[in-house]
Amino acid sequence: MTNLELVQLIFPDISLTVEDCEARYPARELPEGACVTRFAPSPTGFVHIGNFMPALISYVLAKRSGGVFFLRNEDTDKKREVGSALRLIMETLAHFGILPDEYEADGQTVGDYGPYVQSERKEIYHACLKRLVERGRAYPCFCAPDKLDALRASQEAAKQRTGYYGTYAVCRDLSNDERAARIRKGDPFVLRLLSEGHSARRVRFRDGVRGETDFPENDQDIVIMKTGWGLPTYHFAHAVDDHFMRTTLVVRGEEWLPSVPVHLELFRAFGWCPPAYIHHPLILKRDQDDPSCVRKISKRKDPEALMEYYIQKGYPIEAVVDALMTIINSNFEDWRTANPGASFLEFPFSPRKISVSGAFFDLDKLDSISRERLSRLPAVLLRDLSCAWAEQYNPILLDWIRRDEDYYTEILNIEREQPKPRKDVACFCGIPDYLWYMYDDVFEAREKRYQWNEGTVRVDAAEILDLYLAQYYCMDSQEAWFGAIKELCTALGFAAATKDYKKNPGAYRGSLVDVTTILRVAATSLRMTFDLYSIMRLLGPERLRRRFDLALETL
Ligand code: GLU
Repeated sequence: MTNLELVQLIFPDISLTVEDCEARYPARELPEGACVTRFAPSPTGFVHIGNFMPALISYVLAKRSGGVFFLRNEDTDKKREVGSALRLIMETLAHFGILPDEYEADGQTVGDYGPYVQSERKEIYHACLKRLVERGRAYPCFCAPDKLDALRASQEAAKQRTGYYGTYAVCRDLSNDERAARIRKGDPFVLRLLSEGHSARRVRFRDGVRGETDFPENDQDIVIMKTGWGLPTYHFAHAVDDHFMRTTLVVRGEEWLPSVPVHLELFRAFGWCPPAYIHHPLILKRDQDDPSCVRKISKRKDPEALMEYYIQKGYPIEAVVDALMTIINSNFEDWRTANPGASFLEFPFSPRKISVSGAFFDLDKLDSISRERLSRLPAVLLRDLSCAWAEQYNPILLDWIRRDEDYYTEILNIEREQPKPRKDVACFCGIPDYLWYMYDDVFEAREKRYQWNEGTVRVDAAEILDLYLAQYYCMDSQEAWFGAIKELCTALGFAAATKDYKKNPGAYRGSLVDVTTILRVAATSLRMTFDLYSIMRLLGPERLRRRFDLALETL
């Protein structure tokens, strides 16, 4: 029996050919140097930061070069698939401003190189599998899983390299007649690549991060089509899809680096030119329980491993993107300092500046980038962004905002829009803790401890608070307000300037700081707050009176 006859037996219904596919998916017409990149997630129902990273790099490189970035749904592992996963992936990407040029979603295909869902590309895979069987570069293998387990055990016992290769690849030696007989009998089989590689030889290639790299050639007869569904394995689909989708640059995690020899062999078996590769490092973090341990960020242990975390917490998208760019490209931070308002797409991203040794992700760093970002936003924009976030994630904050948007904006505006704005808030979910005491019902309902100075006594506090409201409450301007507090100090025997008090503490009941602390704690219960003048101005005299009364009850 010829290879051609065997092919007809395996794929009786496939008339599509490799040549048809070449014609259907012609080379893309793009400017010189434009990259075609892709994000190729498995639809598992979440977006891991380690998957988001290649999407971000791919997007940047495509956009910067005037190329194309597309999304391919790698759903050939039906066991792992989650129904709404693709939608979630698209939404997550879109949240961070990453919009694929080509994709398939909700039954709609955008782009000429689809289908963009692997399970819909079966005919293309089969046309390509046919070609390899025809050329004698692929063959059916009938070895059952228990037989393969036994093979592995015997190889391990004999201290041999494990796998299906060379003389261990027993189904290589079956004749086409034997193969046909078993197929007709209904024996389950997979298709394997017939490798021509040799482990003693090296294959060289250029990785965008590492430069020239070499590995032993592949000599494993890897599975290229699984049983049952007749769907391809990742390796085979990668070669076929990235060839016919005309991908020029594959960005993926470094866990795929050892597979490159297999991929190059597959491209070569078809006579295709492989894409360029960038293998980015693992995302690492310091273990909280054991700070000496730096480990891979993990979905199981670290909530921040999933991109959803940043969305739910309400981190500004630019901060998350900047934090990732910072760990992936060593000169991003300097560039950002020099270009605070620029889009990350303007950054001259260089794969050679990606660290080989691992990208260290640190939430504290993200927080600091984020605080900086949020502190620079105009109050009105922060109001709108936090309101949109609260609509989805925080009904309590939403209620506060909706009661009086102007009041909320005024609070946000305290010590903002000035050269050194406050940097208290790292994400929208931090806003309630930042300004809760500006809402009377919240303030009154909250269990709180008044942070009086040690030694503050009721009579002193009552005297200060009463006299303040009776005679010194003045909101004409910040200067006038401060001047009035100084006068109050003098009237009550407190030093109006701290330096006077320091020079001669015995001459005073206390200093200006003691008085302002009493006012601040009485108004908010806290010793550390944003600007006291703004707090008092926004609360107004009646609300302050009630707060002072409540405060005095605690002394
Ligand atoms: N589906 C593969 C993964 O999720 C894609 C790897 C690649 O980008 O080629 O790991």
